[in-house]
Order: sequence, then C-alpha cells, then structure tokens
Amino acid sequence: MRRLLRFLCFAAAVPAAFSSPAVATDCRPAAIERLRTVAPEGLAVYQKIADKKFFLGWIDCGERQLGLPTAVHESVHYITAETDAFPLLGGGTLKRPHEVSAFFAPSLIAAKFKPNDFVTTYLRPGSASSSTDFLYLLDELNAYTHDLNTAVALSRAEAFAEPGDEQIDHRDGLAALMAFVALYAERGAASEPATWQGLRQPHVAKTVSELWGRAETVMASSCGIPNFGTEDKTLIRQFCQRGPQAALHKIIGRAPVCPTACLKETPVAARDVDTRPTGSVRAGPAATARPFFGRGIGRGPRSDQ
Ligand SMILES: [Zn+2]
Repeated sequence: MRRLLRFLCFAAAVPAAFSSPAVATDCRPAAIERLRTVAPEGLAVYQKIADKKFFLGWIDCGERQLGLPTAVHESVHYITAETDAFPLLGGGTLKRPHEVSAFFAPSLIAAKFKPNDFVTTYLRPGSASSSTDFLYLLDELNAYTHDLNTAVALSRAEAFAEPGDEQIDHRDGLAALMAFVALYAERGAASEPATWQGLRQPHVAKTVSELWGRAETVMASSCGIPNFGTEDKTLIRQFCQRGPQAALHKIIGRAPVCPTACLKETPVAARDVDTRPTGSVRAGPAATARPFFGRGIGRGPRSDQ
C-alpha cells in the first residue's frame, strides 16, 4: 500500500487543473450532470458556491469519481469562509461559533492517535489551522461529511454499472474527523474546564450537535459499501469508546450512535491507495486567496506519480 501525502496550494492547483491535458477533454459538464442525477446534495454545494470556477477547478477527468467528492469538500470550506457559516448537509446553515477559537488547541490530543496522515495534517502543528483552532476541526468535520456523502451517492450509482473491488479510502477522512472531535470532547471533559464549559454553551453545543448528527448519519450510510476505507475501523473504534461517547453525550444531549456496521470485516482487494488529507486554513482578511491543502482521500487505484 502506497501512501502519498501531497500538499497542493490552491493558488497553484487551480490553473494547473485547467491547463492539464485531462481537462482538455472537458468532462466538467458531464460531471455536474452526474451530480444532478445521483448526488443532489453535492449539486447543492455547486449551486451555492458563487465562484463556479473554484468548484470546477477540482474536477479531475482522470478519476473514477471525477474528483467530485473533493470539489464538494473544498467548496464547503470556501462557502464557510465566505459566509462565516457552515453549510449543512440537507440545507440550511449554522453561523460559525467563533468563541470556540479560545478553546484548547486540538494538537494536544494528537498523541492519542496512532500516527497517520490525518493526524499529521489536522492535529500536528504547522499544517492546517485545525491543529490550533477547534473551529477548523468543526469545519473539516462538515467538509468530510459532505465529501463522504457525495462519494457514497456516486459509488451507489456506479455499483449498478460497474461493480468494483478496488480499495477506495473515502471513509477514512470522516472517521478521522469524528474521532478527533470526540476525543477532543473527552479531553475537554477530563481536564480542560474552560473548554468543557464552553462546549456546553447553547450555541456551541447546537453547532457540535448538528454537525455531529450529520456526520453520524453519513458515516452509517456508508457502512454497506465494502473496501471504502483503510484507517476507518481503527478510528471508529476509538470514538466508540466509553470516554468520548460519554463526553459527546453531555454536549449533544443524546447518546451518540456508534456505526458498528462499519466495523464488520469486508473482503479487501489488493490495495493501492493514495491518501491525501485535505486541510483548511484560518480565513484571514484575504479569505478568498487562502491556500488549501489538497486533497481528500485515495479515489481508487492510481498509477504512481
Ligand atoms: Zn478540508
């Protein structure tokens, strides 16, 4: 299994995408049509983003899913920064709770996890803003929820025409972000009184609850798809443990639902996986020019690059 962590600068990546030979064939109209047909919630993100070129710049005609989950993921970040609100799966928005930026740094939970590319990107200092600011961990949780939802919808549609047995890591990103948020809550409850108090304030608790609930639903909806992750089971087991579940329960006001169906063993084909976490960075005054760390998760077999 090959792991490749690649960081793309948004500013450089978009022009490159438009000038690549793959785009010369221009699959973009067909890609949007595919969203319209099988992934209406992904289409809603395309419809919502003001800068259509930004979305279209992430389309990759050489990928089986045409880069659409990535385009949706990155566009969710873009819309969030532009509107100062999280666009929710299924419609609606939630104003960003900026008070969470004063909470303890998510990097303090990095040691709880087995090293992997997601931990490095989102929890270790120096990559994405989520390592220092819980607001951006929530941003990633939301982006990966939309991302996996689109990947599931596309995969279901593909399955009728072309059953595949290759390993695609669509589930890993959301599993990682759910684990990060859940273990963050656990540490908050255990040893960070200011953050713990803040997490249970109504606006913050509602935000976490709405985002977590959608993540939970999308994760559960993906469990029937085999070979959809490589790190997912480890991460899911981690956030299904008693401590994180109990802490989340106190924030969201109900018992979280462990996606146990995702923990069942499924046959795994020969793996050739490219895992590239996708990060967001703090939106500064020039939010539209901020860099993005490229890309989600391995989208099927690919040749070495
Ligand atoms: Zn991201």
